[in-house]
Amino acid sequence: MLSRRHLLAAMVLVAASPAAAQERLKVLATFSILGDLVKNVGGDRVEVSTLVGPDSDAHVYAPSPADARKVADAKVVIANGLGFEGWMNRLVRASGSKAQVVVASNGITVRKAGASGEADPHAWQSAANAKVYVANIRDALIAADPAGRASYQANTAAYLAKLDALDAEIKSAVTAIPADRRRIISSHDAFGYFQEAYGIEFIAPQGVSTETEASARDVARIITQIRRLKIPAVFLENVSDPRLMQRIAQETGARIGGKLYSDALTSEKGDAPSYLDLMRHNVKQLVTALAG
Ligand SMILES: [Zn+2]
Repeated sequence: MLSRRHLLAAMVLVAASPAAAQERLKVLATFSILGDLVKNVGGDRVEVSTLVGPDSDAHVYAPSPADARKVADAKVVIANGLGFEGWMNRLVRASGSKAQVVVASNGITVRKAGASGEADPHAWQSAANAKVYVANIRDALIAADPAGRASYQANTAAYLAKLDALDAEIKSAVTAIPADRRRIISSHDAFGYFQEAYGIEFIAPQGVSTETEASARDVARIITQIRRLKIPAVFLENVSDPRLMQRIAQETGARIGGKLYSDALTSEKGDAPSYLDLMRHNVKQLVTALAG
């Protein structure tokens, strides 16, 4: 039998522990990078789950029945938008969810890509855009859980300061690269916002979605460009098949500069388990390959 003293101790423990899981706001983010931003804004008050996990490609994702259950369980669903999650509307309908779907990229200046003028969904590749995402996430969490307002506002302020520091850090790191060497090849056109914000030019055989393979003509065009512009390095991505880039490197003599993280975080054990880590990793790779 529990003594009165033990019982009191147990009650104190319960009171001091963070909100129990069932009381936390259930938020679902469509992919790993967004999930990390939601965790930073939500803190202890939210329980975050994600659909497309680390090192996985959201462009070609095929949702499972378990994903439909996750959507049905969520109080708030947060998506990137701009055509990134082409499978999302059907999934939400199939789940029967009444959750509000919040588009985190609302309010950014949309980049149009390629000849088709398609919207480029990779807006998180600039820290200034990530700040817009974070403000939208804060507003969505406050709307769903007004009692948490002060907490969400404080978490957001702290994280926005980190994003400002990140932005300044990237701009300063890029100045170490001679202006005529600020040009690389990546697998798919995922770094257009990074290019606009930080002044490194990215050329890619594949478009803004990985759904369409690069054609023989796209590859031939890239090979000509690498030779003509003397582009020093090509990069692999954690969400793309490395073979095409390895072939291009072989044919042109360009170096493989390393691996960039475009559309997904890595697992906890990898180089980029958070958005801040991801951006820092990419910049370090670029500077190492281009500055020397
Ligand atoms: Zn992508």
